[in-house]
Amino acid sequence: MAFRLSERSLRRLAGVHPRLAALAHEAIALSPVDFMITEGLRMPQRQAALVRAGASRTRRSRHLTGHAIDVAALVDGQVRWDWPLYPRIAAAFKAAAVRQGTAIVWGGDWPTLRDGPHFELDRKVFP
Ligand SMILES: [Zn+2]
Repeated sequence: MAFRLSERSLRRLAGVHPRLAALAHEAIALSPVDFMITEGLRMPQRQAALVRAGASRTRRSRHLTGHAIDVAALVDGQVRWDWPLYPRIAAAFKAAAVRQGTAIVWGGDWPTLRDGPHFELDRKVFP
């Protein structure tokens, strides 16, 4: 059974780079785990608040330019943060990225401070 992005998730893709939004649309259809979009384009004021709170390291987040999205896994409609769910969602994003020829980076692959919910367009291709 294929999942679909909710109306709320679709609204959160507003202002996100169309190549990344297209990946989210294909990934949800491929993913064995349902997910929602929790954040896309981020305003500078919110980014500053996240840095102050220690939730983000940089004021130059890819979210500020619409080059990043965050997701939350859904199991039976409920948000779950269990780590094993996120590599399964990431596999769907990576498969969609190959099919669409779009270079992405998954935060879960970062060697330090890995960020399972985070996907962004590769800076090398999408500066
Ligand atoms: Zn993020």
